[in-house]
Amino acid sequence: MDSTLKRTWAEIDLDALAHNYKTLKERIGKDVKFLGVVKADAYGHGSVRVSRLLQSLGADYLAVSSIDEAVELRLNNITMPILILGHTPREQVANLIKYNITQAVTCKAKAIEYSEEAVKCHGILKIHIKVDTGMSRLGYLCDGDYFNTGVEGICEGCSLPGLDAEGIFTHFAVSDEPGDECKAYTEHQFKLFTDVINAVEEKLGQKFLIRHCANTGAVAKYKDTWLDMVRPGLLLYGYGEFAGELGLKPVMSLMSTVSTIKIYPAGTAISYGGIFKTDRKTRIGVLPYGYADGFFRCLSNRCEIMTKAGPAKQRGKICMDMCMIDLTDMPSVDVGSEVEIFGKNNSINDLAALAGTIPYELTCAVSKRVPRIYIRDGEVVEKELLLRNGESAGR
Ligand SMILES: *Cc1c(COP(=O)(O)O)cnc(C)c1O
Repeated sequence: MDSTLKRTWAEIDLDALAHNYKTLKERIGKDVKFLGVVKADAYGHGSVRVSRLLQSLGADYLAVSSIDEAVELRLNNITMPILILGHTPREQVANLIKYNITQAVTCKAKAIEYSEEAVKCHGILKIHIKVDTGMSRLGYLCDGDYFNTGVEGICEGCSLPGLDAEGIFTHFAVSDEPGDECKAYTEHQFKLFTDVINAVEEKLGQKFLIRHCANTGAVAKYKDTWLDMVRPGLLLYGYGEFAGELGLKPVMSLMSTVSTIKIYPAGTAISYGGIFKTDRKTRIGVLPYGYADGFFRCLSNRCEIMTKAGPAKQRGKICMDMCMIDLTDMPSVDVGSEVEIFGKNNSINDLAALAGTIPYELTCAVSKRVPRIYIRDGEVVEKELLLRNGESAGR
């Protein structure tokens, strides 16, 4: 794997992650539990390493999207509770029970399937009921005319054999968006959620241990929604507009190296399609970083990469494995110089905005051939390459 270092790599600052966790924990107080969302390989940061740190810091729960993601954590000594937010096929219920993984239950049909499977293997499946309060994705539909049937369905699900309903949750659609309309929408979702909980608890005569709904936007803006547990992802990794306001630090720095420099005369077309033509004698550096590493081709010829001499303009079409930057006015940047694609000196929020997307998509896109380098107390403590090349096997 050292072969790929000095190419393009992602530095994962575990100190920043610990800082973010502690800052958020302080914000929510000791009576509110903390669930760290580590789906999608912890938004590209490496779910095993992120989960290990969260476990050692005393976080209460983790959430992933699929059983494969959950089992990966279990096989790497993550023993804390794990919730699967997404769909698990009924054939996997025995594995959920075996690995002590909590499953979201999103509708009547799935509650029945999961119950049948749990009974078949003589186990108890821990579940969290998912309520659809306005995200219109997964969950028991409970808004408007659906309130009574929704509540009934949830009560039925909670009473089925083989299921242990530990928690109930919902997901906000616009808690991170500005404006009164979004605020009203979020408040409506929250009120509906608490109405559903009250109705279900009254009917069942028992309380849910963990009621949760606060994602990043709600952790930042809607204190009332924290209930028993918060469920942030993006904030933990230190991105987005609220991260700065809360004093959080970006965890990932995506770094590359200038691999080659050439000097072209005026009038030279650079890269596929020739969309950039030099207008003077131009010193062009080649970075071994392209869209197969996670760069967004839509950023071609319109973004900047941070060098030690300041931002360098990216020139021409971004290729699969490479892209070019203009170093004409930066003589101090040479072959071997490190550059930052995003990170502490080049905000991922700006790059995401330029690409017409959100920071989540940029960190999730960092591909498996980009090694993750874990840093603690300013020192490299671990390196991981996700390619199947032996050295990293066993992950
Ligand atoms: C991804 C996800 C989260 C975390 O969202 P952030 O915006 O990153 O805080 C929380 N809850 C659910 C159900 C999710 O799918």
